Amino acid sequence: MNAKILRLNKAGSPVAWLTRPEAATLVVREMVIWSMGDESLAMYGGYNRLGRRTVLKLPSIVACEGKIHRGSCQPPLENSLLFRRDQHLCMYCGEAHAIAGLSRDHVLPLSRGGKDCWTNVVTSCRRCNNRKADRTPEEAGMQLLAVPFAPNWHEFLYLSNHNVLADQMEFLKARFSRYMS
Ligand SMILES: [Zn+2]
Repeated sequence: MNAKILRLNKAGSPVAWLTRPEAATLVVREMVIWSMGDESLAMYGGYNRLGRRTVLKLPSIVACEGKIHRGSCQPPLENSLLFRRDQHLCMYCGEAHAIAGLSRDHVLPLSRGGKDCWTNVVTSCRRCNNRKADRTPEEAGMQLLAVPFAPNWHEFLYLSNHNVLADQMEFLKARFSRYMS
């Protein structure tokens, strides 16, 4: 129900997720150059004179004209994306937690000059985060279970949508890095 449409630019690179109304607008304005994907999403419109509801079938992946701002190359760092990158596991003790039990840990603490960026942050349970405190993992005698990495744009789009369709997943996955499992 909450499935979205993957928007590509003219060159075929994914840029963003579209809601059904957003995608419908692009279709109606004839801004869709080509589309792909096996699945289609129905967009229901009003009722016609015969009392039938109009339905617009939207492709799951559309390439469109027009420039849209993709921001910097680095995806924004948000906890929800970070926790998904680390599969909701604490990167120190390896335990799975609900979102409320997780926190953002700076591998090199901010107080020691560490940056708030993808490659210096990991998902940590509150207990491990408290234990580590203002120390590096080495100083605290805690080992990181995985090296933190910055997701590429394909990975970011996957992380930012909880309802990726199979054909969209296949498209995005082709460009996942070796870090992403
Ligand atoms: Zn932990």
